[in-house]
Amino acid sequence: MPKNIIIFFGPPGSGKGTQAELLARKTGLPTGQAGWKKISTGDLLRAEIAAKTTLGKNVEKYLKTGKLVPDQMTIKLMENSLKQKAAGFIFDGFPRNSRQLKALLAILESLLKKNDQVRAIEVAVSDKEVKERLGLRRMCACGAVYHLKYNPPIAEGICDICHQELFTRNDDKPKVIAHRLKVYHQDGKPLLDYWQKQGKLIKINGEQPIKKIHEEIVEKLRGLKVI
Ligand code: AMP
Repeated sequence: MPKNIIIFFGPPGSGKGTQAELLARKTGLPTGQAGWKKISTGDLLRAEIAAKTTLGKNVEKYLKTGKLVPDQMTIKLMENSLKQKAAGFIFDGFPRNSRQLKALLAILESLLKKNDQVRAIEVAVSDKEVKERLGLRRMCACGAVYHLKYNPPIAEGICDICHQELFTRNDDKPKVIAHRLKVYHQDGKPLLDYWQKQGKLIKINGEQPIKKIHEEIVEKLRGLKVI
């Protein structure tokens, strides 16, 4: 069975994490066999922070301010995740710069066989749309997520489910969003150029309904016999 790799790219708030999750569910096998595995460095880092591990304590300040955590930490997380038994891997949030790309390519060289495929999917969303999506996002401690325009709570500033006060995620504050976007464009451009040159880049319009984007991704990957 081939071990294919799909790498999601896109600015913060592009919905790439959602698309990676939907694709992982689609490609997961029902029982027994190892299906595809999703590797989200953001999720892995947030889990370390929640579990108050040493790594979590070290990276908390980076996530709060929207800065990238030092490469050796995310590269280690990625290396460990690739040791899992899986039919293929879906990356969300890695690699994010040229050094991480180099580390990934070195590992894939020893991991992949002749017919295995690597594809990068860019979920394209404009900066204006990102600012609106993230700037109007509100969270509740119970886990509920609202959007002031698309999914507002019934009572302003209060969670519909548990009635606690809603808050804005630290990294959704305007200054932090602007910084995350700047980093995405600066560090991400060489990566997109690389996959483009390799003829492995699939560009998808991320300003469409979630289901439509998912269907387009599945159709393109099936066409290429990646899934
Ligand atoms: P995300 O959930 O992908 O938006 O990631 C949230 C935060 O986790 C980022 O703003 C970074 O601080 C950190 N992070 C996630 N992936 C990486 C990575 N590949 N390299 C460095 N930092 C990362």
